[in-house]
Amino acid sequence: RAKSQQRAGHFYFSRSMGVEIRERVRMMHALRTAFGQNQLFVVYQPQIDLATRRPVGAEALLRWQTPDGKFISPDRFIPIAEYSGLIIDLGEWVMRTACRELVDLRKAGHQNFMMSINVSQVQFRHPHFLEMLRKALEDTGAPPEFVELEITESMAMEEPDLLIKMLAQIKQTGVSIAIDDFGTGFSSLSYLQRLQIDRLKIDRAFVTEITGSARGSSIAEMVIQLGRNLGLAVIAEGVEDERQAQILQALGCPLAQGFLFARPMTATALNGWLSNDALEGAA
Ligand code: C2E
Ligand code: MG
Ligand code: MG
Ligand code: MG
Repeated sequence: RAKSQQRAGHFYFSRSMGVEIRERVRMMHALRTAFGQNQLFVVYQPQIDLATRRPVGAEALLRWQTPDGKFISPDRFIPIAEYSGLIIDLGEWVMRTACRELVDLRKAGHQNFMMSINVSQVQFRHPHFLEMLRKALEDTGAPPEFVELEITESMAMEEPDLLIKMLAQIKQTGVSIAIDDFGTGFSSLSYLQRLQIDRLKIDRAFVTEITGSARGSSIAEMVIQLGRNLGLAVIAEGVEDERQAQILQALGCPLAQGFLFARPMTATALNGWLSNDALEGAA
């Protein structure tokens, strides 16, 4: 319904919507300029094996720092990049940057390190997505078996048949797939079984919850069980304190990511951080 209204060009404006739209347009231009002027960069947050506390990989996260030093959150600018279509070029750039960093890390001796890259649904639906992915892998020389794409659960909910087909094609390149922010959507077990995925990422909200009072049947616990039943790896995101890490480990969650272990950092910082961590675990 909303779609047909848009096609017909029918928009209903209120004064506040006008302000909102103007702000979006302003940000859209600023983002495009920022991208052109190299104000965007990628940081990497380590992912940890809970049993050994060793890094096994990192997630690439986009950052935007304006010339006056302010950081704008990706939660704000990614939707604008999606809305404007800039996410196609931006996403490709992140993909290539993260792949290049993976290759550099491998050269520095971190052979089992995995790189996780967020993929927007707009990127994913683009007709040239597969071609872009193959080319990024080929041009950078990143080994696909050490690259993982993160798609969100909400994205997995729309157009199931298209998604199933796409995932099968992506898997042929050799990269793996994680469902990000898992637990927030409503994926059924039978649907999940039809998807060629490798990993579930427990959303931070459910990690925060586990130290609360009602521990009995937490969503985190259910996701860990689900992963075990489906033969999928599970990683918890947003682990901020030791108690959360210990409960997750006790529940059988093998991997985690969060401020407790490391904050997202620049490529240079990651290189140093990993080198200090001489006993890096096998992925
Ligand atoms: P996400 O993919 O779920 O990424 C995890 C977010 O949680 C990151 O926020 C990370 O900095 C934050 N985080 C990690 N550990 C902790 C913790 O212990 N506590 C708390 N409070 N937060 C933690 P960030 O970097 O602000 O990114 C927000 C979202 O923006 C991402 O959520 C992702 O959906 C999107 N995003 C970021 N970079 C990209 C990108 O390159 N492409 C696309 N399509 N989306 C991106
Ligand atoms: Mg993610
Ligand atoms: Mg997430
Ligand atoms: Mg998120």
